[in-house]
Order: sequence, then C-alpha cells, then structure tokens
Amino acid sequence: MDVKFLDLRSQYLTIAPQIEQVWREVQEQSSYVGGKPVADFEESFAAFQGAQYCVGVGNGTDAIEIALASLGLPVGSEVVVPANSFVASSEAVTNAGFRVVFADVDESYTLDLQDLESKIGPDTSAILAVHLYGQPADMDGILRIAGDHDLRVVEDCAQAHGAEIEGRRVGSLGDAGTFSFYPGKNLGAYGDGGAITTNDEAIASHARRLSNHGRISKYDHIFEGRNSRLDTLQARVLSVKLDHLEDWLERRRQIAAAYFRGLAGIEGVISPTVRDEVRHVFHLFAIRSNKRDELQQQLRACGIATGIHYPIALPELEAYRHMADPDTPNAVNWSGQLLSLPIGEHLKDEEVDYVIDSIAKHA
Ligand SMILES: *Cc1c(COP(=O)(O)O)cnc(C)c1O
Repeated sequence: MDVKFLDLRSQYLTIAPQIEQVWREVQEQSSYVGGKPVADFEESFAAFQGAQYCVGVGNGTDAIEIALASLGLPVGSEVVVPANSFVASSEAVTNAGFRVVFADVDESYTLDLQDLESKIGPDTSAILAVHLYGQPADMDGILRIAGDHDLRVVEDCAQAHGAEIEGRRVGSLGDAGTFSFYPGKNLGAYGDGGAITTNDEAIASHARRLSNHGRISKYDHIFEGRNSRLDTLQARVLSVKLDHLEDWLERRRQIAAAYFRGLAGIEGVISPTVRDEVRHVFHLFAIRSNKRDELQQQLRACGIATGIHYPIALPELEAYRHMADPDTPNAVNWSGQLLSLPIGEHLKDEEVDYVIDSIAKHA
C-alpha cells in the first residue's frame, strides 16, 4: 500500500468545480492584485481566527518580518526564537533588522518557559512564539514573562490555522500573529501567500502600508515599504478552501487520535505531548524514536512516506555558526529522533491502520 505524506491533487479534485469557477471569475474581472476578493478573504480569515484585523501579504516569512517591523522595536534589539522551527522563523527576525537569540523547546516542541526567561537580557525586545506542528505554545506563560520584562510577542502561526487555547484561537493572543498559506500548510494557496492578524489597529495599518510600498494613495508614500501582497487569485482560492478548513482540521485530529491509540503500546516510539486545554491542529504528527533513520527506511520500504521536521536544529545550521552555542539540548538531541508521520484529509482509515501496523512491526 502506498501512503502519501501530502496529496494536494486529491484535495484539489474534491473542490475542482469551485476552484474552476473562481479562476474564471478572476479572469473575467482581469484584476490580479488586491481588490474586493482580497478584502473579503481578509475579513473571513480574521473572523475564523477570532482577530479584529487581517492583512494579506506575499508569504508567511514576510508576514513575520512585517509584523515585527510594525511593532516599533529598537533597531538591532534581540528577539527570542525557539531552536526547533523552520528557518523562516529566525531568518525573518534577522531580515527585519533584529538579532536572533535561540531558546530551547520542551516536550510540547514549543518554547520552554524556563529557558526562554533565562535568554532574556537588557537588549531583548520581543518573543517569537512558534505554534509548532499545530500546537499552541504556552501563551499564558509567554505573555506573563513578556509582561514581566516589557517585551512584545509575535505568534508564528504558519502551522496552526484554527488552533486554540481554552477556546481562544491563536493569532491575536500576542501583539500579532503571522500565517503562511504555502501550498502544503493546513490552509494552502496555489502558490505563496501569507497573512498577519492582530487586534491592534495601529499594527494592522502599519503592516498594510509596509507591505504596499508605504503607500497612502497611488503615488503618495509616507515611508519606504516593500511589495508583499496577497494575489487576488490566491485570495479566491483561499476563500474556497477556508469553507472546508474546519472539516479538514477535524479529520487531522481524528487521525491523530487513531495514532495516539495505535502507537500507545509500542516500545521505542514517543508520541507527541498535547498540552491541556489546547486544540492541536496537527499540521504534523511528529513521533520520536532512537532508531529514527532505520524506521524511516523501513516505512519507506512499506510504501509509507514520512518527513523530518527538522533534521538540524536552528542553532546548528551553518547559517548560525557565527553565534555562540545557545545551549538548547532538547532541540539538538530531538532533531536526530523526530519523524513526522503522514497526516491529512487525504488519508483513509485503512492507510492510518497500515501506518500503525508497520510501525509496530519495525520500531
Ligand atoms: C512555513 C513556515 C514559515 C514560512 O512560511 P512561508 O509562507 O513558506 O514563507 C514560517 N514559520 C513556520 C513555522 C513555517 O512552518
């Protein structure tokens, strides 16, 4: 049996008539950047996340950069970033003009509060909380620490559309939230796309201007911004998909529940830790095994595609060799053990059972 890690084609086939209709509508209007379709999507996505404002941008990395640049932080100050994430999280901090400081993650694979607090110094201005794999970071703890040290908080929600803490959705628990609509994310466009959410009108309007050349009217610019906008066509695709997102997220949670049950008794396999009172949306279902590489090969031989997120902890990347070792042992050790199993609405129950049986045989 062949089990795919991700299957965008099968998802497309379930919504093809709607997609073809919006494609035709955009072509008939022949308006490709901005416009009502983008404003409509921004409004629906803000409502979906429970935020007051949403600003569509070009991708999830720009979203982080623009959100940070909209907070009025001192140039060159430090932003704390978790050591286990996609490189975009830290790259955006540097490109926005700040210095990256890595903190370790705990069993939830999100910021370890103790290590976070120990990494805060006189030059720290903000925390980038990443809701990794679809699980909200401990925002109550992070906001308490931010309050104690007078820091701003941006949430990287690239993997966490629809995730919740005690019924409150991520994205406006801190000062701003950032989303990616890269095709493989839980809500994906047919190309790059991203968004910033916030409850702060000043952040929203600054972010919107920054993402559109600092523009206040067609040829009037109050500062130099950049070009990072959500395309009209992508906004229409995202609006179609947003109507299905709740169902798709629930299917992910159902598959995760099957994995938790099926993997519980298997020695050598550590299932993810889900924090109390959160809605984890399982962009990824990452297990740990001391024999990760062998297990991945054996699963591949069974026809099962898996992924590794991420094989190298951020502080160990060549890109960060110039930095002093931040001492993030969990992120470093676990990067050799993590293995992401297939998850998504494309999977059938038989396929999920087959993944569990194959792990039981080979772990
Ligand atoms: C995908 C991702 C990003 C970057 O999003 P892009 O749209 O690809 O630029 C940032 N942070 C995390 C955690 C991601 O998974």
